[in-house]
Amino acid sequence: MFKCKDINHHTSDYLDKNLSLWKRMNVRLHLFMCGPCRDFVRQFGLTRSSLQHLSTPAPTDDKIDAAIAKLKAKVKENQ
Ligand SMILES: [Zn+2]
Repeated sequence: MFKCKDINHHTSDYLDKNLSLWKRMNVRLHLFMCGPCRDFVRQFGLTRSSLQHLSTPAPTDDKIDAAIAKLKAKVKENQ
């Protein structure tokens, strides 16, 4: 059976559903019996999803090209 340190090690893969059936069952069994690890996994998941909402998407090529065009126009105005 998994110990607390094993849960700590597998939390990310558990939340991403990247564990084998056997490991997933071991994690679930441990979480059923261990309140502190349940809290840890819940907090880890909440923190991770909060951080994903904070990250901004990368700008598209169109937006980068438009920004460069604006900068070039400004430079021309100032020459
Ligand atoms: Zn535990």
